[in-house]
Amino acid sequence: MKDFFNGVRRHIGRLDAEHLREQYAHLSDELIALDTLFKTISLGIILLDEHGEIVKTNPAAKELLGIAPADALSALQIPLGKAMKRDVDITYPEERTLEIKSVPVEAGTLVYIADVTSERERTEEELRIGATRAVRDLAAGVAHEIGNPLNALSLNLQLIKRSCPDEGGVDECLRQVERLSGIIQGFLQALRPSKPNLVRGSLAEPIRSCLATMKHLFEERSISVTLNLAAGAIPSVALDSAQMEQVFFNLLKNAIEAVRDGGAVDIGISYDDNDVITTIRDNGLGMDGEQVVHLFEPYRTSKEHGTGLGLMITSRIVRDHGGTIGVESEEGKGTLFTVRLPRIERRIRALKG
Ligand code: ADP
Ligand code: MG
Repeated sequence: MKDFFNGVRRHIGRLDAEHLREQYAHLSDELIALDTLFKTISLGIILLDEHGEIVKTNPAAKELLGIAPADALSALQIPLGKAMKRDVDITYPEERTLEIKSVPVEAGTLVYIADVTSERERTEEELRIGATRAVRDLAAGVAHEIGNPLNALSLNLQLIKRSCPDEGGVDECLRQVERLSGIIQGFLQALRPSKPNLVRGSLAEPIRSCLATMKHLFEERSISVTLNLAAGAIPSVALDSAQMEQVFFNLLKNAIEAVRDGGAVDIGISYDDNDVITTIRDNGLGMDGEQVVHLFEPYRTSKEHGTGLGLMITSRIVRDHGGTIGVESEEGKGTLFTVRLPRIERRIRALKG
């Protein structure tokens, strides 16, 4: 499309009247078709100019938001010039989950709004994984069979290491075995998610213990890591500490893999009336709009040894906690992940109300 317009622009001085009429007719047909699509599609679309003002919106945007897009805009917090993806729970006109995506375009920012209520309610990722139950059980069985000998290998390697500590090759074998176990574990978890065992607690705890286990990963690449806690007592949430630790492990691991040596990762915990909000910001390579739009889908990886399962598991755990996860990213500049978990107080209020 862009090439076509640039071509016409370049040659416009040389086109005769007949040619211009032809191009005009062609363009107007296409515009009318696009305009019909824009007005009838069930996806909400808002186009913002470079200052964040609305240029164009379609009827679906208003219908999905329940109010005029202009009135919803400040609540949607669309970052300009960055790609973004996040779920928003709304209560009016009825309780629904909307997925908001935005991508920077030449003239500003394009925002998409989709109703994902039923998709999010489906607890299993059956459709997204795209495999039938039989195939999944078979795959899980095979993975399990590989897991057992791996454990035996790892144990025996550790014994060998203890009796001959100078044998350098053993360390490498152990590392590779650990890597394989990690892949198998991720795979099994993706296929057979376990429900979180929710207890009252603080998010600071799984983050601190995650940082303790990952300390060497930051240190060996001189990556600085900071933890900023909001002043005052952080409200409690209902959480499965082990599962949330995995969430932060996955997000921090990705951040480490995205930054250069000497890069920076900043973690923050804050809260508002409804949620406790954890942010993980890195100044790494960032993502383009296309990557952000498809984030959290399984098997999407840009890494040679990646599995593309980490973020899918992460978003599933967060959803099982009644929370949401969102992302903002700018190519070459960095990425910000935001995890929101509902405050216990809010839950009680919601139940009473
Ligand atoms: P994997 O890490 O195995 O590739 P993930 O599900 O954890 O799988 O991540 C999927 C993809 O999302 C990554 O391959 C990477 O392209 C992108 N990604 C995730 N986190 C970041 C980040 N902090 N910065 C840049 N890209 C990221
Ligand atoms: Mg990962």
